Amino acid sequence: MDTLAKLEILADAAKYDVACTSSGMDRRAQKGKLGSATGAGCCHSFTADGRCISLLKVLLTNYCVCDCAYCVNRRSNDVPRAAFTPRELADLTIGFYRRNYIEGLFLSSGVVRDADYTMELMIETLRILREEEGFRGYIHAKSIPGASSGLVELLGLYADRLSVNIELPSQSSLSLLAPEKGKSDIIKPMALIRDGIQASADEVRLARRNYLGSRAKRFAPAGQSTQMIIGATPETDHHILQLTGALYKSFGLKRVFYSAYLPVNDDARLPSLDTDVPLTREHRLYQADWLLRFYGFEADELLPVEQPSLDLLVDPKAAWALRNADRFPLEVNKASYEELLRVPGLGVTCAKRLVKARVRHRLTFDDLRTLGISLKRAGWFVTCNGRMADGFCFDPIKARVHLEDATRTTGAGRKLKRGMVEGQMSLFGAPSPRATDPMARRGHRDVLLVAARGQRLKATEITPSGLPAADPLLQGEVSA
Ligand code: SF4
Repeated sequence: MDTLAKLEILADAAKYDVACTSSGMDRRAQKGKLGSATGAGCCHSFTADGRCISLLKVLLTNYCVCDCAYCVNRRSNDVPRAAFTPRELADLTIGFYRRNYIEGLFLSSGVVRDADYTMELMIETLRILREEEGFRGYIHAKSIPGASSGLVELLGLYADRLSVNIELPSQSSLSLLAPEKGKSDIIKPMALIRDGIQASADEVRLARRNYLGSRAKRFAPAGQSTQMIIGATPETDHHILQLTGALYKSFGLKRVFYSAYLPVNDDARLPSLDTDVPLTREHRLYQADWLLRFYGFEADELLPVEQPSLDLLVDPKAAWALRNADRFPLEVNKASYEELLRVPGLGVTCAKRLVKARVRHRLTFDDLRTLGISLKRAGWFVTCNGRMADGFCFDPIKARVHLEDATRTTGAGRKLKRGMVEGQMSLFGAPSPRATDPMARRGHRDVLLVAARGQRLKATEITPSGLPAADPLLQGEVSA
Protein backbone atom coordinates (compact mmCIF):
# COMPACT_ATOMS: atom_id res chain seq x y z
CA MET A 1 0.00 0.00 0.00
CA ASP A 2 1.47 3.39 -0.92
CA THR A 3 1.82 6.34 1.43
CA LEU A 4 -1.17 8.21 0.06
CA ALA A 5 -3.49 5.24 0.55
CA LYS A 6 -2.22 4.76 4.11
CA LEU A 7 -2.57 8.45 4.83
CA GLU A 8 -6.14 8.55 3.55
CA ILE A 9 -7.14 5.66 5.81
CA LEU A 10 -5.24 6.76 8.90
CA ALA A 11 -6.04 10.46 8.75
CA ASP A 12 -9.69 9.63 8.20
CA ALA A 13 -9.65 7.22 11.14
CA ALA A 14 -8.20 9.94 13.39
CA LYS A 15 -10.96 12.46 12.75
CA TYR A 16 -13.12 11.28 15.63
CA ASP A 17 -10.58 12.44 18.15
CA VAL A 18 -11.34 16.06 18.96
CA ALA A 19 -8.65 16.64 21.56
CA CYS A 20 -6.22 18.19 19.14
CA THR A 21 -5.96 21.91 19.74
CA SER A 22 -2.57 23.11 20.72
CA SER A 23 -1.64 25.88 23.09
CA GLY A 24 0.68 26.89 25.84
CA MET A 25 3.90 25.91 24.11
CA ASP A 26 6.58 28.34 22.98
CA ARG A 27 9.75 27.07 21.39
CA ARG A 28 11.92 29.15 19.10
CA ALA A 29 13.50 27.91 15.93
CA GLN A 30 17.13 26.88 16.39
CA LYS A 31 20.03 26.90 13.96
CA GLY A 32 20.50 23.49 12.44
CA LYS A 33 17.07 22.35 13.65
CA LEU A 34 13.72 22.33 11.96
CA GLY A 35 10.51 24.10 12.97
CA SER A 36 9.24 25.95 15.97
CA ALA A 37 6.13 26.00 18.15
CA THR A 38 4.28 29.10 19.24
CA GLY A 39 2.23 29.74 22.36
CA ALA A 40 -0.63 30.86 20.16
CA GLY A 41 -0.98 27.30 18.96
CA CYS A 42 -0.14 25.87 15.59
CA CYS A 43 -3.66 25.62 14.22
CA HIS A 44 -3.91 27.90 11.22
CA SER A 45 -6.19 26.31 8.70
CA PHE A 46 -9.70 24.96 8.86
CA THR A 47 -11.56 22.30 6.99
CA ALA A 48 -14.73 23.10 5.13
CA ASP A 49 -16.69 22.11 8.21
CA GLY A 50 -14.74 24.47 10.41
CA ARG A 51 -12.28 22.21 12.18
CA CYS A 52 -8.63 23.08 12.39
CA ILE A 53 -6.28 20.75 10.52
CA SER A 54 -2.89 22.32 10.43
CA LEU A 55 -1.59 19.61 12.72
CA LEU A 56 -1.08 16.42 10.80
CA LYS A 57 -3.73 14.47 12.68
CA VAL A 58 -3.17 10.83 12.06
CA LEU A 59 -3.13 7.36 13.54
CA LEU A 60 0.00 5.26 13.46
CA THR A 61 -2.33 2.39 12.70
CA ASN A 62 -6.04 1.69 12.78
CA TYR A 63 -5.53 -2.01 13.46
CA CYS A 64 -6.81 -2.58 16.96
CA VAL A 65 -7.09 -5.55 19.25
CA CYS A 66 -9.83 -3.85 21.27
CA ASP A 67 -13.52 -3.76 20.48
CA CYS A 68 -14.84 -0.53 21.95
CA ALA A 69 -18.50 -0.32 20.91
CA TYR A 70 -18.44 3.35 19.82
CA CYS A 71 -15.25 3.19 17.75
CA VAL A 72 -15.06 2.90 13.99
CA ASN A 73 -11.67 1.17 14.32
CA ARG A 74 -12.85 -1.61 16.65
CA ARG A 75 -11.59 -5.04 15.71
CA SER A 76 -15.06 -6.36 14.78
CA ASN A 77 -15.57 -3.68 12.09
CA ASP A 78 -14.77 -4.52 8.53
CA VAL A 79 -12.97 -1.32 7.53
CA PRO A 80 -9.85 -0.74 5.43
CA ARG A 81 -6.79 -1.06 7.67
CA ALA A 82 -3.32 0.37 7.36
CA ALA A 83 -0.21 0.99 9.43
CA PHE A 84 2.72 3.35 9.07
CA THR A 85 6.18 2.35 10.09
CA PRO A 86 7.76 4.93 12.44
CA ARG A 87 10.17 5.96 9.67
CA GLU A 88 7.36 6.41 7.14
CA LEU A 89 5.35 8.60 9.47
CA ALA A 90 8.35 10.67 10.53
CA ASP A 91 9.30 11.26 6.87
CA LEU A 92 5.74 12.18 6.03
CA THR A 93 5.59 14.70 8.88
CA ILE A 94 8.87 16.29 7.89
CA GLY A 95 7.81 16.37 4.23
CA PHE A 96 4.54 18.09 5.08
CA TYR A 97 6.25 20.49 7.44
CA ARG A 98 8.77 21.52 4.80
CA ARG A 99 5.91 22.13 2.36
CA ASN A 100 4.21 24.30 4.92
CA TYR A 101 1.07 22.16 5.03
CA ILE A 102 1.28 21.53 8.74
CA GLU A 103 2.89 22.96 11.81
CA GLY A 104 2.93 19.94 14.01
CA LEU A 105 1.75 16.42 14.58
CA PHE A 106 -1.16 14.93 16.46
CA LEU A 107 -0.42 11.25 16.85
CA SER A 108 -2.72 8.56 18.14
CA SER A 109 -3.04 4.88 17.39
CA GLY A 110 -5.17 1.78 17.59
CA VAL A 111 -3.76 -0.89 19.86
CA VAL A 112 -1.62 -3.20 17.81
CA ARG A 113 -0.55 -6.38 19.63
CA ASP A 114 -0.70 -4.68 23.08
CA ALA A 115 -0.48 -1.25 24.68
CA ASP A 116 3.29 -1.43 25.27
CA TYR A 117 4.16 -2.50 21.74
CA THR A 118 2.01 0.32 20.32
CA MET A 119 3.66 2.85 22.60
CA GLU A 120 7.10 1.64 21.54
CA LEU A 121 6.19 2.30 17.89
CA MET A 122 4.87 5.77 18.74
CA ILE A 123 7.96 6.59 20.77
CA GLU A 124 10.21 5.47 17.93
CA THR A 125 8.32 7.78 15.55
CA LEU A 126 8.79 10.73 17.88
CA ARG A 127 12.42 9.81 18.54
CA ILE A 128 13.18 9.89 14.81
CA LEU A 129 11.43 13.24 14.50
CA ARG A 130 13.12 14.87 17.46
CA GLU A 131 16.57 13.28 17.47
CA GLU A 132 17.30 12.35 13.87
CA GLU A 133 15.37 15.10 12.09
CA GLY A 134 15.83 17.78 14.76
CA PHE A 135 12.09 18.57 14.54
CA ARG A 136 11.09 21.26 17.05
CA GLY A 137 7.47 21.66 15.95
CA TYR A 138 4.52 20.90 18.17
CA ILE A 139 3.69 17.27 18.91
CA HIS A 140 0.59 16.07 20.70
CA ALA A 141 0.65 12.34 21.42
CA LYS A 142 -1.95 10.04 22.89
CA SER A 143 -0.80 7.71 25.60
CA ILE A 144 -2.30 4.26 25.13
CA PRO A 145 -4.36 3.17 28.16
CA GLY A 146 -2.65 0.31 30.00
CA ALA A 147 0.89 1.10 28.80
CA SER A 148 3.80 0.74 31.23
CA SER A 149 4.87 3.75 33.27
CA GLY A 150 8.37 3.84 31.75
CA LEU A 151 6.92 4.15 28.25
CA VAL A 152 4.54 6.95 29.26
CA GLU A 153 7.53 8.79 30.75
CA LEU A 154 9.52 8.34 27.57
CA LEU A 155 6.65 9.52 25.38
CA GLY A 156 6.34 12.66 27.51
CA LEU A 157 10.00 13.51 26.90
CA TYR A 158 9.38 13.73 23.15
CA ALA A 159 5.85 15.15 23.03
CA ASP A 160 4.71 18.65 23.97
CA ARG A 161 1.31 17.55 25.07
CA LEU A 162 0.10 14.15 26.19
CA SER A 163 -3.41 12.95 26.56
CA VAL A 164 -5.11 9.87 27.86
CA ASN A 165 -8.69 9.71 26.68
CA ILE A 166 -11.18 9.03 29.42
CA GLU A 167 -13.73 8.38 26.62
CA LEU A 168 -16.74 7.60 28.80
CA PRO A 169 -17.85 9.51 31.87
CA SER A 170 -18.36 6.57 34.24
CA GLN A 171 -16.95 3.18 35.14
CA SER A 172 -20.24 1.46 34.33
CA SER A 173 -20.31 2.96 30.81
CA LEU A 174 -16.68 2.01 30.33
CA SER A 175 -17.41 -1.59 31.36
CA LEU A 176 -20.37 -1.70 29.01
CA LEU A 177 -18.87 -0.10 25.92
CA ALA A 178 -15.11 -0.54 26.31
CA PRO A 179 -14.74 -3.66 28.43
CA GLU A 180 -11.03 -4.06 27.62
CA LYS A 181 -10.23 -0.71 29.25
CA GLY A 182 -10.22 -0.39 33.02
CA LYS A 183 -10.56 2.85 34.96
CA SER A 184 -7.06 2.41 36.38
CA ASP A 185 -5.63 2.08 32.83
CA ILE A 186 -6.73 5.69 32.35
CA ILE A 187 -6.31 7.22 35.80
CA LYS A 188 -2.84 5.78 36.47
CA PRO A 189 -1.12 7.34 33.44
CA MET A 190 -2.95 10.62 34.08
CA ALA A 191 -1.44 10.72 37.58
CA LEU A 192 1.95 9.76 36.19
CA ILE A 193 1.83 12.55 33.62
CA ARG A 194 0.71 15.06 36.26
CA ASP A 195 3.67 14.09 38.49
CA GLY A 196 6.09 14.15 35.56
CA ILE A 197 4.97 17.65 34.52
CA GLN A 198 5.27 18.87 38.10
CA ALA A 199 8.74 17.37 38.61
CA SER A 200 9.95 18.79 35.31
CA ALA A 201 8.58 22.27 36.10
CA ASP A 202 10.20 22.15 39.58
CA GLU A 203 13.53 21.25 38.06
CA VAL A 204 13.38 24.16 35.62
CA ARG A 205 12.33 26.56 38.39
CA LEU A 206 15.18 25.44 40.62
CA ALA A 207 17.71 25.74 37.82
CA ARG A 208 16.48 29.27 37.04
CA ARG A 209 16.61 30.29 40.69
CA ASN A 210 20.21 29.15 40.88
CA TYR A 211 21.03 30.82 37.55
CA LEU A 212 21.79 27.43 36.05
CA GLY A 213 20.59 26.72 32.57
CA SER A 214 18.68 23.43 32.65
CA ARG A 215 19.49 21.29 29.65
CA ALA A 216 17.26 18.48 30.86
CA LYS A 217 14.44 17.51 28.49
CA ARG A 218 11.10 18.98 29.54
CA PHE A 219 8.33 16.49 30.20
CA ALA A 220 5.10 17.27 28.32
CA PRO A 221 5.63 21.04 28.65
CA ALA A 222 2.23 21.85 27.13
CA GLY A 223 0.45 19.74 29.75
CA GLN A 224 -2.10 16.99 29.40
CA SER A 225 -5.67 16.81 28.17
CA THR A 226 -8.41 14.25 27.76
CA GLN A 227 -11.53 13.63 25.75
CA MET A 228 -15.02 12.46 26.72
CA ILE A 229 -17.72 11.20 24.40
CA ILE A 230 -21.03 12.93 25.02
CA GLY A 231 -24.38 11.36 24.31
CA ALA A 232 -23.42 7.70 23.81
CA THR A 233 -24.27 6.87 27.43
CA PRO A 234 -26.87 8.16 29.89
CA GLU A 235 -24.63 10.32 32.13
CA THR A 236 -26.12 13.74 32.74
CA ASP A 237 -24.42 17.10 32.19
CA HIS A 238 -24.30 17.43 35.98
CA HIS A 239 -22.30 14.22 36.21
CA ILE A 240 -20.03 15.27 33.34
CA LEU A 241 -19.31 18.68 34.86
CA GLN A 242 -18.62 17.15 38.27
CA LEU A 243 -16.14 14.78 36.65
CA THR A 244 -14.60 17.62 34.64
CA GLY A 245 -14.15 19.75 37.78
CA ALA A 246 -12.50 16.81 39.55
CA LEU A 247 -10.17 16.15 36.59
CA TYR A 248 -9.00 19.76 36.54
CA LYS A 249 -8.42 19.77 40.27
CA SER A 250 -6.85 16.33 40.68
CA PHE A 251 -4.78 16.04 37.53
CA GLY A 252 -4.15 19.65 36.55
CA LEU A 253 -5.46 19.01 33.04
CA LYS A 254 -5.11 21.80 30.51
CA ARG A 255 -8.29 20.84 28.71
CA VAL A 256 -11.15 18.41 28.81
CA PHE A 257 -12.52 17.98 25.29
CA TYR A 258 -16.08 16.88 24.65
CA SER A 259 -16.90 14.91 21.58
CA ALA A 260 -20.56 14.80 20.60
CA TYR A 261 -21.36 11.16 19.91
CA LEU A 262 -21.43 10.46 16.21
CA PRO A 263 -23.15 7.13 15.53
CA VAL A 264 -20.89 5.01 13.35
CA ASN A 265 -21.68 1.49 14.57
CA ASP A 266 -24.93 -0.41 14.67
CA ASP A 267 -24.77 -1.82 18.20
CA ALA A 268 -27.55 -2.61 20.65
CA ARG A 269 -25.54 -0.99 23.47
CA LEU A 270 -25.50 2.36 21.66
CA PRO A 271 -28.07 4.94 20.54
CA SER A 272 -29.49 4.12 17.11
CA LEU A 273 -27.69 5.14 13.93
CA ASP A 274 -30.20 7.88 13.14
CA THR A 275 -29.61 9.63 16.47
CA ASP A 276 -28.81 13.33 16.02
CA VAL A 277 -25.27 14.36 16.90
CA PRO A 278 -25.70 16.43 20.11
CA LEU A 279 -23.66 19.41 18.92
CA THR A 280 -25.57 22.01 20.91
CA ARG A 281 -25.07 20.02 24.08
CA GLU A 282 -21.37 19.72 23.27
CA HIS A 283 -21.20 23.48 22.76
CA ARG A 284 -22.94 24.19 26.09
CA LEU A 285 -20.51 21.85 27.84
CA TYR A 286 -17.57 23.76 26.36
CA GLN A 287 -19.12 27.01 27.62
CA ALA A 288 -19.61 25.54 31.09
CA ASP A 289 -16.07 24.18 31.01
CA TRP A 290 -14.80 27.69 30.23
CA LEU A 291 -16.66 29.01 33.27
CA LEU A 292 -15.02 26.37 35.46
CA ARG A 293 -11.55 27.24 34.24
CA PHE A 294 -11.59 31.01 33.94
CA TYR A 295 -14.59 32.46 35.76
CA GLY A 296 -14.35 30.91 39.20
CA PHE A 297 -17.53 28.83 38.93
CA GLU A 298 -17.84 25.46 40.65
CA ALA A 299 -19.54 22.54 38.93
CA ASP A 300 -22.29 22.51 41.60
CA GLU A 301 -23.18 26.13 40.90
CA LEU A 302 -23.53 25.60 37.16
CA LEU A 303 -25.88 22.67 37.54
CA PRO A 304 -27.60 21.81 40.78
CA VAL A 305 -28.40 18.10 41.33
CA GLU A 306 -32.11 18.73 40.81
CA GLN A 307 -31.40 20.28 37.40
CA PRO A 308 -29.00 17.81 35.76
CA SER A 309 -29.06 19.08 32.16
CA LEU A 310 -27.63 22.25 30.69
CA ASP A 311 -30.14 24.68 29.24
CA LEU A 312 -29.81 24.43 25.46
CA LEU A 313 -31.51 27.74 24.77
CA VAL A 314 -29.51 29.91 27.13
CA ASP A 315 -25.77 29.76 27.78
CA PRO A 316 -24.66 28.38 31.19
CA LYS A 317 -23.65 31.75 32.65
CA ALA A 318 -26.96 33.37 31.72
CA ALA A 319 -28.83 30.30 33.02
CA TRP A 320 -26.96 30.63 36.34
CA ALA A 321 -27.74 34.37 36.53
CA LEU A 322 -31.44 33.76 35.85
CA ARG A 323 -31.53 31.10 38.58
CA ASN A 324 -29.82 33.51 40.97
CA ALA A 325 -31.86 36.59 40.17
CA ASP A 326 -31.60 37.79 43.80
CA ARG A 327 -27.91 38.68 43.13
CA PHE A 328 -28.84 41.08 40.31
CA PRO A 329 -28.88 43.77 39.06
CA LEU A 330 -25.27 44.52 39.94
CA GLU A 331 -24.03 48.08 40.26
CA VAL A 332 -20.97 48.22 38.01
CA ASN A 333 -19.38 50.98 40.08
CA LYS A 334 -19.41 48.86 43.23
CA ALA A 335 -19.37 45.18 42.28
CA SER A 336 -16.17 43.24 42.87
CA TYR A 337 -14.17 41.85 39.96
CA GLU A 338 -15.36 38.34 40.83
CA GLU A 339 -19.00 39.50 40.80
CA LEU A 340 -18.54 41.26 37.46
CA LEU A 341 -17.15 38.06 35.97
CA ARG A 342 -20.50 36.44 36.68
CA VAL A 343 -22.51 38.95 34.68
CA PRO A 344 -23.73 37.42 31.38
CA GLY A 345 -22.05 39.19 28.49
CA LEU A 346 -19.05 40.33 30.54
CA GLY A 347 -15.82 38.48 29.89
CA VAL A 348 -12.49 38.59 31.66
CA THR A 349 -11.14 41.42 29.48
CA CYS A 350 -14.23 43.60 29.90
CA ALA A 351 -14.38 43.01 33.67
CA LYS A 352 -10.72 44.02 33.99
CA ARG A 353 -11.25 47.14 31.87
CA LEU A 354 -14.24 48.08 33.99
CA VAL A 355 -12.40 47.74 37.29
CA LYS A 356 -9.47 49.77 35.96
CA ALA A 357 -11.62 52.53 34.49
CA ARG A 358 -13.85 53.09 37.51
CA VAL A 359 -10.84 54.05 39.66
CA ARG A 360 -10.81 57.42 37.93
CA HIS A 361 -14.51 58.26 38.03
CA ARG A 362 -17.97 56.76 38.36
CA LEU A 363 -18.90 55.02 35.14
CA THR A 364 -21.94 55.69 32.99
CA PHE A 365 -23.42 53.46 30.27
CA ASP A 366 -21.66 55.65 27.69
CA ASP A 367 -18.37 54.83 29.41
CA LEU A 368 -19.23 51.14 29.22
CA ARG A 369 -19.82 51.42 25.49
CA THR A 370 -16.53 53.30 25.10
CA LEU A 371 -14.83 50.45 26.91
CA GLY A 372 -16.20 48.10 24.26
CA ILE A 373 -18.81 46.49 26.51
CA SER A 374 -21.92 45.41 24.69
CA LEU A 375 -25.13 45.81 26.66
CA LYS A 376 -27.07 43.34 24.55
CA ARG A 377 -26.80 40.69 27.28
CA ALA A 378 -25.17 42.50 30.18
CA GLY A 379 -27.84 45.26 30.03
CA TRP A 380 -30.37 42.94 31.69
CA PHE A 381 -28.15 42.40 34.71
CA VAL A 382 -26.34 45.66 35.59
CA THR A 383 -27.03 49.19 36.72
CA CYS A 384 -24.88 52.30 36.42
CA ASN A 385 -25.33 54.80 39.22
CA GLY A 386 -28.46 53.00 40.33
CA ARG A 387 -30.33 52.86 37.02
CA MET A 388 -30.70 50.33 34.23
CA ALA A 389 -29.72 51.17 30.65
CA ASP A 390 -32.41 52.59 28.33
CA GLY A 391 -34.64 49.83 26.99
CA PHE A 392 -33.73 47.36 29.78
CA CYS A 393 -35.44 46.50 33.04
CA PHE A 394 -34.62 43.93 35.65
CA ASP A 395 -37.11 41.24 34.82
CA PRO A 396 -35.70 37.68 34.63
CA ILE A 397 -38.63 36.48 32.51
CA LYS A 398 -38.17 39.22 29.90
CA ALA A 399 -34.41 38.75 30.01
CA ARG A 400 -34.82 35.03 29.35
CA VAL A 401 -37.10 35.66 26.38
CA HIS A 402 -34.53 38.01 24.83
CA LEU A 403 -31.62 35.68 25.52
CA GLU A 404 -33.50 32.73 23.99
CA ASP A 405 -34.35 34.82 20.95
CA ALA A 406 -30.69 35.67 20.51
CA THR A 407 -29.84 31.94 20.58
CA ARG A 408 -32.53 31.15 18.02
CA THR A 409 -31.29 33.90 15.72
CA THR A 410 -27.63 33.01 15.79
CA GLY A 411 -27.88 29.27 16.52
CA ALA A 412 -26.32 27.65 19.57
CA GLY A 413 -22.96 26.18 18.91
CA ARG A 414 -22.68 27.74 15.50
CA LYS A 415 -21.22 31.00 14.44
CA LEU A 416 -22.87 31.95 11.23
CA LYS A 417 -19.95 33.86 9.79
CA ARG A 418 -17.23 31.35 10.39
CA GLY A 419 -16.81 28.45 12.70
CA MET A 420 -18.59 25.37 13.84
CA VAL A 421 -21.01 23.64 11.57
CA GLU A 422 -22.48 20.22 11.89
CA GLY A 423 -20.55 17.16 10.81
CA GLN A 424 -17.12 15.76 11.39
CA MET A 425 -13.88 16.82 9.85
CA SER A 426 -12.73 15.03 6.77
CA LEU A 427 -9.15 15.56 5.76
CA PHE A 428 -9.40 13.89 2.40
CA GLY A 429 -13.02 13.35 1.51
CA ALA A 430 -15.41 15.87 0.08
CA PRO A 431 -16.63 18.48 2.56
CA SER A 432 -19.41 17.21 4.81
CA PRO A 433 -22.80 17.65 3.10
CA ARG A 434 -23.91 19.45 6.24
CA ALA A 435 -21.04 21.88 6.00
CA THR A 436 -22.91 24.83 4.60
CA ASP A 437 -20.94 27.62 6.17
CA PRO A 438 -19.93 29.94 3.29
CA MET A 439 -17.15 31.63 5.25
CA ALA A 440 -15.60 28.35 6.29
CA ARG A 441 -15.65 27.31 2.67
CA ARG A 442 -14.05 30.53 1.58
CA GLY A 443 -11.31 30.15 4.21
CA HIS A 444 -10.75 26.62 3.00
CA ARG A 445 -10.48 27.80 -0.57
CA ASP A 446 -7.95 30.45 0.44
CA VAL A 447 -5.78 27.78 1.99
CA LEU A 448 -5.94 25.82 -1.25
CA LEU A 449 -4.98 28.84 -3.32
CA VAL A 450 -2.06 29.70 -1.09
CA ALA A 451 -0.90 26.09 -1.33
CA ALA A 452 -1.33 26.27 -5.11
CA ARG A 453 0.77 29.40 -5.43
CA GLY A 454 3.51 27.87 -3.27
CA GLN A 455 3.56 24.80 -5.46
CA ARG A 456 3.07 26.73 -8.74
CA LEU A 457 -0.01 24.64 -9.42
CA LYS A 458 -3.31 25.66 -10.90
CA ALA A 459 -6.20 25.70 -8.45
CA THR A 460 -7.77 22.82 -10.37
CA GLU A 461 -4.85 20.57 -9.45
CA ILE A 462 -5.66 20.71 -5.77
CA THR A 463 -7.53 18.11 -3.78
CA PRO A 464 -10.37 19.07 -1.39
CA SER A 465 -7.94 18.63 1.50
CA GLY A 466 -5.73 21.46 0.28
CA LEU A 467 -2.90 19.16 -0.72
CA PRO A 468 -1.80 19.38 -4.34
CA ALA A 469 -3.04 16.36 -6.24
CA ALA A 470 0.27 15.84 -7.99
CA ASP A 471 2.50 16.14 -4.95
CA PRO A 472 5.21 13.49 -5.21
CA LEU A 473 5.05 13.05 -1.47
CA LEU A 474 1.55 11.73 -1.86
CA GLN A 475 2.53 9.43 -4.65
CA GLY A 476 4.80 7.46 -2.37
CA GLU A 477 8.05 9.28 -3.16
CA VAL A 478 8.61 10.36 0.40
CA SER A 479 11.67 12.52 0.77
CA ALA A 480 12.54 14.68 3.70
S1 SF4 B 1 -8.75 1.04 21.83
FE1 SF4 B 1 -9.03 2.97 20.74
S2 SF4 B 1 -8.82 2.45 18.57
FE2 SF4 B 1 -9.13 0.53 19.68
S3 SF4 B 1 -11.33 0.15 19.55
FE3 SF4 B 1 -10.96 1.22 21.49
S4 SF4 B 1 -11.21 3.41 21.01
FE4 SF4 B 1 -10.99 2.30 19.05
